[in-house]
Amino acid sequence: MISSLSKTRITQEKTVSDSTGFLPYGRQWIDEEDINAVISALRSDWITQGPVIQRFEQAVAEQCGVTYGVAMANGTAALHAACVAAGIGKGDQVITTPLSFVASANCVLYCGGMPVFADVRSDTLTIDVAEIEKRLTAKTKAIIVVDFSGHPCELDEVRTLGKKHNLIIIEDAAHSLGAFYKGKPVGGLSDMTTLSFHPVKHITTGEGGMILTNNFEYAERLKRFRTHGITRQREYFQEVDQGPWYYEMIDLGYNSRITDFQCALGLSQLEKLKKFVEGRREIAHCYQEGLGELQEIQLPIELPTVRSSYHLFPIRLQMNQLKKTRREIFQELQDCGLGVNVHYIPIPWHPFYQKLGYQKNQWPVAEAAYEELISLPIWPAMSGNDVDRVIQSLKKVVANSKK
Ligand SMILES: *Cc1c(COP(=O)(O)O)cnc(C)c1O
Repeated sequence: MISSLSKTRITQEKTVSDSTGFLPYGRQWIDEEDINAVISALRSDWITQGPVIQRFEQAVAEQCGVTYGVAMANGTAALHAACVAAGIGKGDQVITTPLSFVASANCVLYCGGMPVFADVRSDTLTIDVAEIEKRLTAKTKAIIVVDFSGHPCELDEVRTLGKKHNLIIIEDAAHSLGAFYKGKPVGGLSDMTTLSFHPVKHITTGEGGMILTNNFEYAERLKRFRTHGITRQREYFQEVDQGPWYYEMIDLGYNSRITDFQCALGLSQLEKLKKFVEGRREIAHCYQEGLGELQEIQLPIELPTVRSSYHLFPIRLQMNQLKKTRREIFQELQDCGLGVNVHYIPIPWHPFYQKLGYQKNQWPVAEAAYEELISLPIWPAMSGNDVDRVIQSLKKVVANSKK
């Protein structure tokens, strides 16, 4: 009972998994080209603050149809930098989704601002624009949207709302590099778009991140953020230039730099982005074909305006048709060697947020989704056999859990 697509799915390179091994929910795909690229960078004069960083920034920006890219140590630093560049500070409110990784909201707290969570749409689990409107106040300064699972949110509607209320739009695109919205690549569609290059994401630099923007002023602030708020450019000096050694610290920045050898890996990975995204889409297609008939689970959808890059493949258990709990089903899938996961525990449910005063039961759609979600393994180097194993295991577990 091997689905036709998974049977024909070919990965020329040797895959890292086999038909009995553990399948994580996501993982990197590193080949010899990548390794050689890192080695050459290590043999060069610069292993950090050198020329490969800018080459990587330009290549990502070009791929995403946007003017500036500013590389960072990780995606979390990219979000922090974006909030600082947006001028978020004490007393400012920033609306974001509860159904994301904690970094999407923590970046607001880093700046002394207050995250305000707006519920998600039930179909795509991306932020619901009508819910954003309900949460607007005079203190709202920005919106951080997340392209959950690789499916871009309603970017036009968010941008229109942002214009109307003079809000800055930050798009956390950690899941959606390589995705398209109304035919345009993710990256240049918001005031600032942040990426992560963690190994489970579309391309990796080990740890790494980037902010993409068409705004020169933001790009300049982001570059200063990553290097202590220091500038060596005379046009920014506030005092008299004291000599060739002179620099000024004009903002409070950090050290959020990425290295040249990481960017060398990133450049080499970027060449394979299309292949990686195609691989993910092919696996998603296999899952749709192999699991589409199961009444007991709901599969992720793709709106006609969108081409998802499937960072995740989150299924939803239809609990009213199942006699087992999500926890039991999750455990049985793990026992089959599937590295299933849950994305995400609602951010305001975490003890730190609870202590800040956030209450549960304010986001019925996201909170109900959380109780039913399980992410299946999806990464481009999965073999046809791996994909088929996921399908057959899930079918078996669901068959044994039916009411
Ligand atoms: C991975 C991720 C981040 C953080 O990226 P790091 O590179 O791990 O710091 C932020 N937001 C979302 C939605 C993510 O998935």
